[in-house]
Amino acid sequence: MIAVRDGITAAGVGEAVAEFAPRRATTEELERVHAPAYLEWIELAAAQGMNLDEDTPAGPGSIEAARRAAGGGLDAVDRLDAGEASAAFLALRPPGHHALSDRAMGFCLVNNVAITAATLVARGERVLILDWDAHHGNGTQAAFYEEPEVLFISLHEYPAYPGTGAIGEVGSGAGSGSTVNLPFPAGTTGDAYRMAFDEVVVPAAEAFSPSWLLVSAGFDAHRADPITNLGLSSGDFADLTERALRLAPPGRRVFFLEGGYDLEALAACAGSCVAALAGERWLPERATRGGDSAQGASSDSRAAAVVRAAAAINERLVATRPRHS
Ligand SMILES: [Zn+2]
Repeated sequence: MIAVRDGITAAGVGEAVAEFAPRRATTEELERVHAPAYLEWIELAAAQGMNLDEDTPAGPGSIEAARRAAGGGLDAVDRLDAGEASAAFLALRPPGHHALSDRAMGFCLVNNVAITAATLVARGERVLILDWDAHHGNGTQAAFYEEPEVLFISLHEYPAYPGTGAIGEVGSGAGSGSTVNLPFPAGTTGDAYRMAFDEVVVPAAEAFSPSWLLVSAGFDAHRADPITNLGLSSGDFADLTERALRLAPPGRRVFFLEGGYDLEALAACAGSCVAALAGERWLPERATRGGDSAQGASSDSRAAAVVRAAAAINERLVATRPRHS
């Protein structure tokens, strides 16, 4: 949290940002995504200081923190509805995108972005969830795998934790084609991410025509991150944020912090992202290019094959879906 605030201060956009402390999500709101028995269990387990899974410890304060993290998205929607801003950035801990309906995973207790998306869908919105955290957003994908009103697009390192997010995972039933996965090899740079935007993310979003954009904005794809192996810089996240903002109308865009485990990189990425939300460009590092190193070139040529395959899959699936205008 301190790193995020430091990044926003360093970016010099503090005055463009209005801070708020989020409200608690109610049990009814959490149940839009999570099973009642699971919510009862984590309440009990956290009070006892038990581990919820092998890398998700919990303690007496965990449930309050999780309810506020989930409430942040709901609060942001209310504030954007009231015209308070053109976009929201939520510096949340714990993160949420690995949490399943009935299981905590990967530091995530409740799925913040999914709870906000489910709330928007219930009122008739069409929601694009873009997940650029280095890890696949398995919990979010599972929540909407058969939901045609949510388009879930994930760009992530593969193979890596949590093991899901293969290119063939495209949704099922009424949601067939509303899940798009871009599984990138270690070392992938910003060039491949920009290509993915041009050839997959933008065409898929245009065909879907979302009324809201929710971004799982983890910053652990930064090359300095200690637990992943992707090759991005904070300069790339400025680019990605600017491109993402064009996918939905002003006042309908919410960015949720997910991972990000190198504090210096987290500060730079959050600062670059929030600066872009404020219409400014702040680049403490330049954007990365595959051509800058032999390893980057090799990773990007494999990532480009992934982008082309995902584009072909998406084009075929979009053609079978009714087009929205
Ligand atoms: Zn992550």
